[in-house]
Amino acid sequence: MYKSIVDVRQEFLNFFHKKEHQIISSSSLIPENDQTLLFTNSGMNQFKNIFLGIEKVLFKRVVTAQRCMRAGGKHNDLNNVGYTERHLTFFEMLGNFSFGDYFKDSAIEFAWELLTDSNWFALSKDKIWITTHICDNESYDIWTKHIGISKKRVIKIGSKNGHYSDSDNFWKMGNIGPCGPCSEIFYDLGDKFPGVPPNNDMTASSERYVEIWNLVFMQFNQRSNGNLESLPMLSVDTGMGLERITAILQGMCSNYLIDVFKNLIISISEVMNVKKSIADRSLYVIADHIRACAFLIKDGIIPDNEGRGYVLRRIIRRAVCHGRKLGVNGIFFYKLVTPLISSMSYITEILCDQVDLIEKILFNEEKLFENTLNKGLKLLRKSLIELKNNKILSGRVAFQLYSTYGFPLDLTQDICHEYNIKIDQLEFDQIMLKEKKQSKQLNRFCRVSGDITIPIDISSIFVGYKHVTYRAKIIALFQN
Ligand code: ATP
Ligand code: MG
Ligand code: MG
Ligand code: MG
Repeated sequence: MYKSIVDVRQEFLNFFHKKEHQIISSSSLIPENDQTLLFTNSGMNQFKNIFLGIEKVLFKRVVTAQRCMRAGGKHNDLNNVGYTERHLTFFEMLGNFSFGDYFKDSAIEFAWELLTDSNWFALSKDKIWITTHICDNESYDIWTKHIGISKKRVIKIGSKNGHYSDSDNFWKMGNIGPCGPCSEIFYDLGDKFPGVPPNNDMTASSERYVEIWNLVFMQFNQRSNGNLESLPMLSVDTGMGLERITAILQGMCSNYLIDVFKNLIISISEVMNVKKSIADRSLYVIADHIRACAFLIKDGIIPDNEGRGYVLRRIIRRAVCHGRKLGVNGIFFYKLVTPLISSMSYITEILCDQVDLIEKILFNEEKLFENTLNKGLKLLRKSLIELKNNKILSGRVAFQLYSTYGFPLDLTQDICHEYNIKIDQLEFDQIMLKEKKQSKQLNRFCRVSGDITIPIDISSIFVGYKHVTYRAKIIALFQN
């Protein structure tokens, strides 16, 4: 039976509600009181202090559909968007949680029932593959003996460098915080697609076997010195990408071909007046990015030269470049907010009273970038032609694009990637370091949470709203 994304989302919540889980709303994309995270990257973030035993447990079983952003910090898929069928920057993660209540048995039983029972998702059992952590014999036995999956399709995944926690089957929300071994569920799309089953070679990413659900057995708190401390209670945290499971239930091989994305892509290509197949990569990127930007702005982020605002700026600029690639001239990105809202009403309802603000911010940012975009693209094109057979672009050109024309490094990398050209990152980093040293007294650089240092206040890059409150920034926008 056909299921829309709305049906899938609702069925997930209903299933776990029947199993005595309390339905809790999604939290913001900006983690509350957590300096260790750039964005909410999974369903468990809002419950971090419960896992750690710092906050009281109100409900022992909880279910959510959490808005997530994976465009910075430990989980960063920005540069996967446009290259894989399964990565989005913004997506919803469906999750059931147990806080010191059930553990591995029930977590695995619930997942299996929802995925395969004919009253629920009714997926065919022999297309499901499982991975477990090599040290987690308990999960392996539950899958193979209790659930009865053939051992052929339950793969033990080892640890890199022999470190227990350094494995694809050990989930961490960031460099510190709650974590634990996990068991992941994959779906086999069939031999029309290239790829090998999940295995220990982490580089073997596969189109054929799509990771759909991660069951994390929360047991430890990772400290900043790398030590794993036991948590006060054993808990469960699961995460399944709503768009990924919907694609499978709709018989699609891509997130971008599910009901709501197809509609969005058709309407944005009309607004942009481009006649392309709906499977065009640039349309995928733009569709993902307009959604991500709208939700980031809704949660209080505006383009900036540092931290979260810089990530938003990067996403907008990447989308704008893809617009140029499709032949769109003139400012267009803000025009996609209306099609976004109408094609995804099940989640965009909460954006409705902020349409003006979102459009205005996107318009201003694109206008700002427009001034340097064409010049930057010209320089890049010229430099690429001059490379001839050399496949490395100098770090100096990348730095010039960055500092003078406002091209974030990953944007230049992204454009070069299409021509199979790499950037001399070492040279780029050296120039950046030199620049950093020179501007130290001026305090032009700052450190943001996580692992990135981001410049503020570099030459011609927009230097607007630094040190002003969000409210003041918004007022300034509307006065322009
Ligand atoms: P992948 O290996 O495909 O990048 P992951 O292992 O990084 O996924 P987890 O951190 O385990 O993902 O997150 C739990 C689930 O969330 C995944 O199994 C997947 O269904 C979904 N998910 C993760 N990243 C994305 C993304 N960028 N876009 C859409 N869904 C995602
Ligand atoms: Mg990932
Ligand atoms: Mg994975
Ligand atoms: Mg995973």
